[in-house]
Amino acid sequence: METSKQRETRAERARLELAAWWETSARDLPWRFGRTTPWGTLVSEVMSQQTQMSRVVPYWLAWMERWPDARSLAAAAKADVISAWGRLGYPRRALRLQECAQVVAEQYNNELPQTYDELVALPGIGDYTASAVLSFAFGKRIAVIDTNIRRVNTRAFEGTESLGGAASRAERELANELLPLDIRESVVWNESVMELGAVFCTAKAPLCDQCPIREQCLFYANGLPGLGQKRTRPRQRFKGTDRMVRGLVLQALRDSNGVALEYAQVQQLWKDQLQLDRCVASLDEDGLIEIGPDRSVSLPA
Ligand code: SF4
Repeated sequence: METSKQRETRAERARLELAAWWETSARDLPWRFGRTTPWGTLVSEVMSQQTQMSRVVPYWLAWMERWPDARSLAAAAKADVISAWGRLGYPRRALRLQECAQVVAEQYNNELPQTYDELVALPGIGDYTASAVLSFAFGKRIAVIDTNIRRVNTRAFEGTESLGGAASRAERELANELLPLDIRESVVWNESVMELGAVFCTAKAPLCDQCPIREQCLFYANGLPGLGQKRTRPRQRFKGTDRMVRGLVLQALRDSNGVALEYAQVQQLWKDQLQLDRCVASLDEDGLIEIGPDRSVSLPA
């Protein structure tokens, strides 16, 4: 059994190794290294939820060029916002981001607030995004807890597989325990642990041979016990789901360049008409489309 002193020594070595690795090997994403505003950081974090960062890059670049701040996004037409979200998935996020922009523009004079309580009160902003913005954009010392960070922390410092599901109290305590006291080091720690989880310490096939903290990793030392077997939620299939059918309808509307689709055209999009109607109705409920009296469908004005 490891003593707390031994664990702290291991953590300190891991911090140094990860900081050096981050310095030389971090992916050069356009919102990193102080090249964007706090608002740009927030947009990147919202887009990266449930979407790989490498896929987000072209969307983020186009989005920030078109709507560089909260005020410009707040004033945009909903149809443009939904179209620009493209194939990022979970398009309700686009509308929530616009709602967030409206609050920031109106209540905070176009500047993101800098306290946790104010950030989590914004539409669509949860614990993770608020913490990430405080750490990455404002350089504050706060533990950022996402799936990647939880996986690396649990593996490297507890020696067990990460369970998945909602963050447990123990995982939060571990993240806080490991967070460096120095403010600048805490930011690099958050960024580098998250990066390690994205590129090397992946859920199913960690690349331990290339890992900069392999020497400090208890999971590796233990022989990767139960690798990938404890995930509580198997990855959902996508083909044939309502999510996919909703995506087909939105894509057809984007391709029509602002022209409404007749109901007969919508019917051509998917063979299961009951499922199609259900998806059209749910898109309408989410405010992502509008249904005309003749059942034609369009993006909202
Ligand atoms: S050694 Fe392997 S399991 Fe441990 S942190 Fe690195 S990639 Fe993850």
